[in-house]
Amino acid sequence: MLHGMKAALLETRGPEGLKLRDVPVPVPHAGEALLRVHAVGLNRVDLYMRDVGVGITHALPIVQGVEAAGVVASAPEGSGLRVGQKAVLYSNAFCGRCRYCMAGDQPLCLHSDIMGEHRHGALAEFVAMPASCFVPLPDDADLVAAGALMTGHLTAWRMLFGKRALRAGESVLIVGIGGGVAVACLQLALRAGARVYVTSSSDAKVARAIALGASGGVNYRSDKVAARVLEMTGGEGVDMVIDSVGQASWADSLKSLRRGGRLVTCGATTGSNPGADIQRLFIRQLEIYGSTGGSMEEFRQLVALFARGEIRPVIDRQYTLDEVHAAFDRLHASEQFGKIVVTVPT
Ligand SMILES: [Zn+2]
Repeated sequence: MLHGMKAALLETRGPEGLKLRDVPVPVPHAGEALLRVHAVGLNRVDLYMRDVGVGITHALPIVQGVEAAGVVASAPEGSGLRVGQKAVLYSNAFCGRCRYCMAGDQPLCLHSDIMGEHRHGALAEFVAMPASCFVPLPDDADLVAAGALMTGHLTAWRMLFGKRALRAGESVLIVGIGGGVAVACLQLALRAGARVYVTSSSDAKVARAIALGASGGVNYRSDKVAARVLEMTGGEGVDMVIDSVGQASWADSLKSLRRGGRLVTCGATTGSNPGADIQRLFIRQLEIYGSTGGSMEEFRQLVALFARGEIRPVIDRQYTLDEVHAAFDRLHASEQFGKIVVTVPT
């Protein structure tokens, strides 16, 4: 019988508030299964939860960690899950009953219940989630890679292919290459046959992106982004911009688009209220839309590709749960290229 487990518990806001504690193993509610966690990818939202948390309904203390892969430790009757099988979690315990869930659009669920944000997360030896959020993996699946798959790749998937899908031969500018979502966008856009351009404050990150297949990049510290993007695209601009930076990059992102191009945003790490440039919007007939997460169906498609070995997250660095503070420090420094993963040794 399991009693206690190690967990990264956010007790108070700020870096010092995140503690490694012994806490009770979660007791699954009706319909829930228990995952023995093996790997947890870190995300910007983890820092936001730790340091700010405003706008996300939750109570402290809360176990952090918004994505995970591991092994099924217990499962309810009739769930189809088997104890001992590998699985990756869909992080949102969606209600399944609201109009958005009924339409298969779980990221818009009116009762979203995301692990590590609204309910206890996965930076622990065990996490309980509805059995419907468990997606089985093949026995030979790499759990470290799987633990870094959900947030970055699923967010990227919906941004690129959700509304006005990026097509082969089109071009896309990814603002701020290096983070999990941006690197996943690079991988998935290349796989779709698109030309990819990137921006970064680091020449090394631009070079890394080009080595992975990007057609070009701009260091926004030393160069003018929009002017360089126009130059690289024969004066036309790109078909799509992927921007999670917000205020600091917004004007350049709009100016980098071709006529009729689309800007997709999934974050605003530098601020939420840039100039709107409405004249540019209507004259050049630009589209701007937001995206967050992805649906269960999109996640299943993604996991199927992963299981066949067709996509694999870029892992920046691995830490163990005991080293969780160092992992957060690396995330905070924004020096990573790809995913920072915390593993939970048995
Ligand atoms: Zn719902």
